[in-house]
Amino acid sequence: MEPLRFTPLLKRIRWGGRRLGTVLGKSIGDGSDFAESWEVSDHSLDQTVVAQGEFVGWTLQRLVRERSRELLGRHANRTQFPLLIKFLDANDRLSLQVHPNDVQARRYRADDNGKTEAWVILEAAPGSRVFAGLRHGVTRDSLQHALETCDIESCLHSFAAAAGQCVFVPAGTVHAIDAGILLAEVQQSSDTTFRLHDWGRLGTEGRPRPVHITEALDCTDFTRGPVSPVVPRLASLASHVAEDLVECPQFVIRRHATNAMFPLMCDDRFRIVMLLSGQSELESNSGVELLTMGDTILVPAACQVVRIAPRGDVRLLEIYLS
Ligand SMILES: [Zn+2]
Repeated sequence: MEPLRFTPLLKRIRWGGRRLGTVLGKSIGDGSDFAESWEVSDHSLDQTVVAQGEFVGWTLQRLVRERSRELLGRHANRTQFPLLIKFLDANDRLSLQVHPNDVQARRYRADDNGKTEAWVILEAAPGSRVFAGLRHGVTRDSLQHALETCDIESCLHSFAAAAGQCVFVPAGTVHAIDAGILLAEVQQSSDTTFRLHDWGRLGTEGRPRPVHITEALDCTDFTRGPVSPVVPRLASLASHVAEDLVECPQFVIRRHATNAMFPLMCDDRFRIVMLLSGQSELESNSGVELLTMGDTILVPAACQVVRIAPRGDVRLLEIYLS
């Protein structure tokens, strides 16, 4: 089975911008509200479709159902692709939100999963902040009181955003990002979000957008505390030193920054490659694929002999299941 390239699903939302096109090369049209590019998705009706090759026109769901063993290898015993991979361009501060874990999610929607996610920041405007986690000592009561008195920022941990940071956001972590942030996101396949606070803003109809305070408080992990950028763990490979950013039960993210050719491990697991900068060839037994900045490719578990051959310096994410 050859490496799979999908046609991204572009999501237009009020807070989006144009960088999915201008920086990451997506086919955007006119407008300045391109918020998310869903690169690999098997979530409900949001299905990415194979763009080329033997499986052109297939949805990811059909691949999971009909080619499970080849695609997923040792993780073949599932009916849904477990990860949702996105790029996201924020040109306004996003609402403060929290996602449920798997057990909580099923209380609200029988067919959805929890959402643990991680971000790798590609660009951040000067002054942009990341809000992640609560300050030490914040309880459900004090957070609720702060919401009622519009003093929410006194409860939130935040830090200055910078390109290259990785932020790990397990389910239950209160979070928001500022205008000016462009990022790659790896998450469980889920679309359940509870909005805690919207910074006093009005929606397109001039009214406040709905918040879901009870659900958000029920799902908030008050033991999580402040969340800071991940400190990468270095992994020495034969060709270069990679950075292990996240290793959690839901996914693993390794970052490579190199100009050297290196093999992708073939260990009966799928691999997702997101090219964050530069250009690289991806060689496999079914040919050579050129990847440029903003490209995402899914390498099936059955794909043998896969090599990354950079054309100059590249930075890429390698994402897989533990
Ligand atoms: Zn989120």
